[in-house]
Amino acid sequence: MSDRAGTDGHGSDTPASETDTAPALLTVLSGPSGVGKTTLAKHVRQAHPEVWLSVSATTRKPRPGEVDGVHYFFYDRPAFEDLIAKGEFLEHAEYAGNLYGTPRAAVEQRLAAGQPVLLEIELQGARQIRAAMPAARLVFLAPPSWEELEQRLRGRGTEPEDVIARRLATGRIELAAEREFDVTIVNTTVEAAAAELVALVTGSPIST
Ligand code: 5GP
Repeated sequence: MSDRAGTDGHGSDTPASETDTAPALLTVLSGPSGVGKTTLAKHVRQAHPEVWLSVSATTRKPRPGEVDGVHYFFYDRPAFEDLIAKGEFLEHAEYAGNLYGTPRAAVEQRLAAGQPVLLEIELQGARQIRAAMPAARLVFLAPPSWEELEQRLRGRGTEPEDVIARRLATGRIELAAEREFDVTIVNTTVEAAAAELVALVTGSPIST
């Protein structure tokens, strides 16, 4: 885990304590688009199938290979807004022109059963979870550098230039919010980052 800001991420000068590494049942993984959250979450799930990864809802169109109910639940905007009105989301946010949300019931059921839950969401959603569920641990996934983030986002080849530009602009705002998070992991290699995240989610020692 990196502590590049020299604090525990709460914006205070409290030194990192044991509670920073004790497992939390609910972990929120956030960070700018393109930083590698999805790949990292997949790694954690492969190594630790007992960690439940929430499947979000979105109004974004599926990318090639994305399957409804597996990668996302895909809705049109009116259907999504209906779900918001019914209180079906634990958190929801508009991101780069699309709506995203975490279905509430599935997360609450897993947590009630004592299963570790991982949410992979953007900044506004992470803030909502912090307010609603203070026991959640917020993990910020940072790129090794801004240039690397830009390269990764373009290298994905799934978005047109205007969408990339929009995501990069949002990325700058997201990077500036790093200090709101409990822990930062720098995504230098996916293996090392996954080991850090696994250690946080399961309380097991870091092994790469
Ligand atoms: P993408 O379109 O690249 O799959 O996701 C765009 C952004 O939305 C990413 O930062 C992703 O983590 C975030 N995201 C995915 N699902 C959710 C969700 O349920 N809630 C929120 N707030 N953000 C989400």
